[in-house]
Amino acid sequence: MASVTFDAATRRFADDLPPAVDSLDLDVADGEFMVLVGPSGCGKSTSLRMVAGLESVESGAILIDGVDVVGMAPRARDVAMVFQNYALYPNMTVADNMGFALRNAGMSKPDTGKRVAEVAEMLDIAHLLDRKPAKLSGGQRQRVAMGRAIVRRPKIFCMDEPLFNLDAKLRVSTRAQIAAMQRELGVSMLYVTHDQIEAMTMGHRVAVLDHGVLQQVGTPREIYSRPSNLFVASFMGSPQMCLINGRIDAGVVRLGAAHLPVPDSVLAAATSAEVVVGLRAESWTVSTVSHDGALRGTVDLVEELGAEQFVYCSADVPLRNSRIVVRVDHRRTIDVGDVVGLVPEPSETYWFDPVTGAALD
Ligand code: ATP
Repeated sequence: MASVTFDAATRRFADDLPPAVDSLDLDVADGEFMVLVGPSGCGKSTSLRMVAGLESVESGAILIDGVDVVGMAPRARDVAMVFQNYALYPNMTVADNMGFALRNAGMSKPDTGKRVAEVAEMLDIAHLLDRKPAKLSGGQRQRVAMGRAIVRRPKIFCMDEPLFNLDAKLRVSTRAQIAAMQRELGVSMLYVTHDQIEAMTMGHRVAVLDHGVLQQVGTPREIYSRPSNLFVASFMGSPQMCLINGRIDAGVVRLGAAHLPVPDSVLAAATSAEVVVGLRAESWTVSTVSHDGALRGTVDLVEELGAEQFVYCSADVPLRNSRIVVRVDHRRTIDVGDVVGLVPEPSETYWFDPVTGAALD
């Protein structure tokens, strides 16, 4: 096990472009599962590759167990990397793929075989050891790639979108398997994904990046319940948080006929009367008759998800995203074209500065 520290780590690919990773400060504790998440191009893979030694660091440092590894050869870092495309050798069997690094490091054939067999057992791929990669399913290839990393008993695991090539169902089961494997081995993990559900379900902590800049780091619950800015609020959580431009007037923000009291902490932090109000799908009460104190909405789309449904409504308020989305129990009957009354839950409302995007409470 080992800790990893990014200390103002910066990587720029061209002088006329902003840095791909901009002065990143992040600590990954011994045995921690840290997920790096963000949209395409935000610098997740580059951050990971800097730890593995596959990308140079322009300024700042990367420390493994307190030792600056910038300039150290990748193989000297004791970091195992699992790539999105698995990068298996096509002409080798599963057993040879898994044992390759150990044999290269001088381990005897019997010892290598023993280690490979143990890990294959753990990953439920023992029956595949004699096969070549072309004869494996995507999920089996994924497990071989993981096995090849595990046999090395590295200090740190780096995984770059390892579930990308799997179908939705397999992604869910493999998600749980990787989390269990990490717990069992107690190894430090840096895991890259663009999928916020993967990030929320797998990580002990989640680091959210945008344009090479760290936006927030925290437990999944902290990130969900206390997003530090508009970017984190809208990127994390599905469906996306509804964001509405509001104006504080006599301590309240009016959303149509609905009134939202503004908490004192928000009044104190706001630099002007303009604010952005954020509400998640579960934070509205919906009635099928329009009534006093409710925002009037028109149902544009109903998404059935089995136990619940997402109801997409248009409303006459300055929405920053296209519609208000409301989570409704599956027993309710709501149809496209219905006019509904929407009441926001004041205690579950988020408040942001419209200029800086920073959270106001
Ligand atoms: P994705 O999810 O699409 O893989 P990412 O968040 O992992 O994206 P990076 O691959 O780290 O992002 O890329 C960050 C930025 O650096 C992007 O703008 C990308 O175009 C740029 N970049 C990455 N690698 C190189 C390279 N070798 N040469 C030039 N630019 C690069």
